[in-house]
Amino acid sequence: MPELPEVEVLRRYLEPRLQGRRIVEVEVRRPRVVRPTGEAALREALVGACLRRVDRRGKHLLFVLRTSSGCERTAVGHLGMTGRMYVDPGKGALPRHTAVLLHLDQGRFLFEDPRQFGRFHLEPGVLEGMGPEPWSQDWTPDHLRSRLSGTRQAVKTRLLDQSVVAGVGNIYASEALHHAGIDPARPGSQLDPAETARLWHSIRTVLERAIEDGLGANLDFAGGGDGLFYFGSAAGREAGAERLQVYDRAGKACLRCGGTIERTVQAARSTFSCPGCQG
Ligand SMILES: [Zn+2]
Repeated sequence: MPELPEVEVLRRYLEPRLQGRRIVEVEVRRPRVVRPTGEAALREALVGACLRRVDRRGKHLLFVLRTSSGCERTAVGHLGMTGRMYVDPGKGALPRHTAVLLHLDQGRFLFEDPRQFGRFHLEPGVLEGMGPEPWSQDWTPDHLRSRLSGTRQAVKTRLLDQSVVAGVGNIYASEALHHAGIDPARPGSQLDPAETARLWHSIRTVLERAIEDGLGANLDFAGGGDGLFYFGSAAGREAGAERLQVYDRAGKACLRCGGTIERTVQAARSTFSCPGCQG
């Protein structure tokens, strides 16, 4: 599932292509993904609206619009497990799994979602209760410490809670704990202040590196998926999975110590770690 870095890279691709565009028509082909707004309300708000900018909050994309009556509205997009969003010239046939289609005054915006876990709606309330963005002033070692204290939950499982830090999911929780050299199974409350500060720093670092990697990757957003989770990479580029240090590398050598990466299951999710670096 795409996490903060993948969504941020997508935001930077979408914004210049959508800014200033007017929505001419809205087609909803998979009604499930526009819940709870519904197709009629979505069309009423969006047809005639102008796209001002694309923001991001955690793993959500925020399409900020000015409606035809001059109000500001925000459409919230979430890629779910396998969703993809891109802009194309609007001439080809529609992909089979098109969920939402925005016809623009130039080109069209497509949201493809084969598994229909994605969302595109007008309910910013879903963002309430979310923790700080990793680069905001509110994201401090003290904040992380307060969110880890008083819980017996394993630190890795705790990091998946979006109230701890926005946008970290299964991939970057494993990556950050490896970067910090912390055993993912330890209860969050047992981390000492130095370990918490290290983890805080590692979370920023692994997210920053992943964004840089995505920005430098010459991605083909309308192309097929290939290990970068949902972006296709342009011709000549290797699949991007090896940019990760531990995620999905069970049985392979740790790139830092040469030990063997292990896969465990925590709260029904896979965790990847190196016992040598994180013992
Ligand atoms: Zn190692």
